[in-house]
Amino acid sequence: MHSKPNVDRGHMFECPTCDSSQVYTETVQHKFTYGVGDTAVDLTCQLPVRVCENCGGRFIDEVGEMVRHETVCRHLNRLTPGEVLRIRENCGTQAAFGELTGIGEASLSRWETGASIPSKAYDCYLYLLTYPENLHRLQAQASRLRSESEAPRAHQFQCIQITEARLSQQRCFSLRRTA
Ligand SMILES: [Zn+2]
Repeated sequence: MHSKPNVDRGHMFECPTCDSSQVYTETVQHKFTYGVGDTAVDLTCQLPVRVCENCGGRFIDEVGEMVRHETVCRHLNRLTPGEVLRIRENCGTQAAFGELTGIGEASLSRWETGASIPSKAYDCYLYLLTYPENLHRLQAQASRLRSESEAPRAHQFQCIQITEARLSQQRCFSLRRTA
């Protein structure tokens, strides 16, 4: 009835309970419930479980947590942390991506580490950015806005330059008036 567990001894881990370094990985079919009430669903994934040969302890670490998180993302039809990371890295750093898209670095960090899942709106936005032409549109828009915001500054700079001359003109003018 039970299929033979998939055991991996290629990389051994340390046991957090007994400090033994004889902890191997067993990949098991894992069923868990996501959601509450009417929206609760049973999801299934292939979960890597760390098993200690010394004390018999069984553990799920961050790799297992990520497998569960990705299963939830797929169920919700949202981008997984790895997919968000790849989309963002096309643009460079989180700061550069945030500057272009308006998406905060804190949000990016949470999605990339799996601490939270993008909302439907953000998921759609990020999905559209997987198309290079959409990224290019945003970049073109950003450089247009930059050049527009530089134009009035150049104008102000011209005004300041001629202020000195105008000031002395005004002084002469006011002297004449009071004379
Ligand atoms: Zn142990």
